[in-house]
Amino acid sequence: MTLANGRRHMALPGPSVMPDRVLQAMHRPAPDIYDGELHEMVAGILPDLRAVARTQGHVAMYIANGHGAWEAALANTVAPGGRVLVPATGRFGHGWAEMARAMGIETELLDHGPGTPIDPDRVRAALAADAGARIKAVLVTHVDTASSVLSEIAPLRAVLDELGHPALLMVDCVASLACDRYEMDAWGADVTVAGSQKGLMVPPGLGFVFFNDRAQAARKALPRVSRYWDWAPRAEPEMFYQYFGGTAPTHHVYGLREALNMIGEEGIEAVWARHETLAKAIWSAAETWGAEGAFRLNVPDPAHRSRAVTAARLDPPDGKRLRDWCTNVAGVTLGIGLGMETPADPQASGAFRFGHMGHLNAHMVLGLLGTVEAGLTALHIPHGTGGVSAAAATLARETGGTAPTDIRQSVYA
Ligand SMILES: *Cc1c(COP(=O)(O)O)cnc(C)c1O
Repeated sequence: MTLANGRRHMALPGPSVMPDRVLQAMHRPAPDIYDGELHEMVAGILPDLRAVARTQGHVAMYIANGHGAWEAALANTVAPGGRVLVPATGRFGHGWAEMARAMGIETELLDHGPGTPIDPDRVRAALAADAGARIKAVLVTHVDTASSVLSEIAPLRAVLDELGHPALLMVDCVASLACDRYEMDAWGADVTVAGSQKGLMVPPGLGFVFFNDRAQAARKALPRVSRYWDWAPRAEPEMFYQYFGGTAPTHHVYGLREALNMIGEEGIEAVWARHETLAKAIWSAAETWGAEGAFRLNVPDPAHRSRAVTAARLDPPDGKRLRDWCTNVAGVTLGIGLGMETPADPQASGAFRFGHMGHLNAHMVLGLLGTVEAGLTALHIPHGTGGVSAAAATLARETGGTAPTDIRQSVYA
């Protein structure tokens, strides 16, 4: 029997749920690309993007996914033969390092494994050993979407400042932007990389690179920058055509405009608070399930967990069984485990992820958690009972209600 034939929910860490308002804004005939509405719209999008990233700096837009934004950030800052330091906390950190290597950049990898945040002391030691400042940039992933590890950015700025090391601090916020609090200028990031299809709620296809004047100076010092990835004409175009290095992604622009309207109406602080509360509900359920059996969150310490994505494990192959059940029987698709292979689980078939980024509210999260609980039960996967009740109690408390304190996992109240 299947119960999947209602509106399907993709509980993936990107592409995220697209709001009807965004879809409707995109449903239109081809616009005039020579002047008028589209031109005004693009000019108006830039300050709103800057507000979401909390920066007064520059922003360049690309018709690209997050991988394109990675390449753009490197192409403007580090010449082939230059060196970068990459403290990796999951598959995406490694991915950015591989991108750098493929561009002829030397990479020094500080592998933190898929479960612990970046250790500023390890970064300090690597930078202190860098006589002659050969390291041009430190590439960090704010939220590694594979492991769901959240790393703090400000302490890394403090390390660079303490050592007087000139490397740029470059931050991948593809997963975290408009989900987890991020303060580009206040935390001292020089470059921030993002994409359209996660917290920004727009289909995949737009990449963003935010950069400050220090990063712009690094760009100017390069012998050459690939024409297409060059951020200078995109950030300060002499004509509209240059914003996107050619024809504008017309419909994505309409979608992004509407998504930024929605974020503006809610307020970025409220967007972050909503993600935080919904994440706490998920953690409450997960820890209740984990009271018996094998269910575990990948990141033990809540302070180091993302509010956008949650990686979890069961015994192999129960993660895959659970995913299949949720998709086929209940119409909810969970994210696959990425970079979560272990000796005990070489295929990572115990691992899976909940995406909870962007256009998501309490009833969607409770539906997700109720579905997972039904799947655990149907598949006879041992788990603690009462996960959904614990999540509901957390939501009740977080929204100002009083819930009985004997319900397990009141720790997030
Ligand atoms: C999704 C993601 C990427 C890659 O983005 P694509 O759009 O899939 O190329 C890079 N880094 C992080 C942290 C991500 O979440």
